[in-house]
Amino acid sequence: MRFKKIFYVGEKINKLQDLKYMNYTNTLEFAKQQDANDPLKGYREKFYFPMMHGRETVYFTGNSLGLQPKATQNYVLNELEDWATFGVEGHFHARKPWLSYHEQFAEPIAKIVGAQPEEVVVMNQLTLNLHLLLVSFYRPTKTRYKILCEAKAFPSDQYALESQVKFHGLDPENAIIEVAPRSGEVCIRHEDIITAIEKNKDSLATVLIGGVNYYNGQVFDMKGITDAGHKAGAFVGFDLAHAAGNIKLELHDWNVDFACWCSYKYLNSGPGGVSGIYINKKHLNDPSIPRFAGWWGHDKNTRFKMEKGFVPMPTAEAWQMSNAPILSMAAHKASIDIFTDAGMDALLSKTEKLTGYLEFIIDEINKSLHEKLEIITPRDKKQRGCQLSIVAHGRGKELFNKLTEAGVISDWREPNVIRCAPVPLYNSFEDVYRFGEILKSAL
Ligand SMILES: *Cc1c(COP(=O)(O)O)cnc(C)c1O
Repeated sequence: MRFKKIFYVGEKINKLQDLKYMNYTNTLEFAKQQDANDPLKGYREKFYFPMMHGRETVYFTGNSLGLQPKATQNYVLNELEDWATFGVEGHFHARKPWLSYHEQFAEPIAKIVGAQPEEVVVMNQLTLNLHLLLVSFYRPTKTRYKILCEAKAFPSDQYALESQVKFHGLDPENAIIEVAPRSGEVCIRHEDIITAIEKNKDSLATVLIGGVNYYNGQVFDMKGITDAGHKAGAFVGFDLAHAAGNIKLELHDWNVDFACWCSYKYLNSGPGGVSGIYINKKHLNDPSIPRFAGWWGHDKNTRFKMEKGFVPMPTAEAWQMSNAPILSMAAHKASIDIFTDAGMDALLSKTEKLTGYLEFIIDEINKSLHEKLEIITPRDKKQRGCQLSIVAHGRGKELFNKLTEAGVISDWREPNVIRCAPVPLYNSFEDVYRFGEILKSAL
């Protein structure tokens, strides 16, 4: 009886808390209270914030380059020390031996992207990995040669697709299908992607879409797209540059064929940091799958026999080419250890509240100043991560310049889009409040 009662009270408190989060207030006290209650509040101190006018900036560009963890310098320094101490023997004797360094990432990265450990590996950079994956998963034939993507994908992805298509002797005009938003709309409707897949079901080789659109922050229904793509007989992959470490991913359960991401955006691993790839288990050990090979993809048990004839690793490691860039990997490890400690579930739950607060504050400014700041990112929490893209109608770059001068680091896209990403790992409710105040005075 007693227990029942406690559960009941507990439930009620949860409900009240839910209600409270809907009941945001635009005051410093409220923001500070939220920060005090934030289970992740301790993580902010683990990062360096760029300073301006003697105080921390409002850093809302973790979607472009995540902040540096304070621990990173030591992780990198340790490798430099081990290199000094051991020379080539560091491959075996370094504190984290270089020979197997990349193996440390399989478990924690699998958790971040919703994969099994053997389905992921960390290697190279993003665009390069996209090409390597397309070698395996874009195999056009006479009849099945089209690749479907979203219109206005990140430019590097557009160039990758265009050059892949040309490499196969095909015409991009004819072979690339771009699904665009309807006229007057900013986001792409899921049903339009599905319709385009179905319409091209006899000629579609591959679907490749960004899991989160870099410009408007829209999250695509990856499971729905994967199911439709498979029904049409195509491979389905995602570029998760803006998704990894930002949204809930279940790559394995969604049955996605392949994916890749970078580590320097939400994953805070430093400029040009290593990229990661995912390959569905069903494609591992498939001898018919073409890939570009290098020695680090060769079966590690016989790799150093240095013999002729490529024998692939039975995991996603088969796609590795070169030995691992340890200094870059060390920076990645520093950050991934923080992610493991914080846990994706806690991060995702803070994102809902924190980005919801930013949304609330933008709406408040519109009401009080009769402004037309239009949030073009979906209002539905399931269709967005932490980024909000805001169109400042009737405003120009001078607005953005004012924000910057007042200590906000956000991102401007011509003609008038401000992209803001309050990152759950290190941004606070107070950051969001301060952003609102700065934005108000800039207007
Ligand atoms: C950031 C980003 C890139 C950048 O590619 P690099 O190879 O890391 O320079 C590519 N594609 C998408 C979708 C991105 O968001």
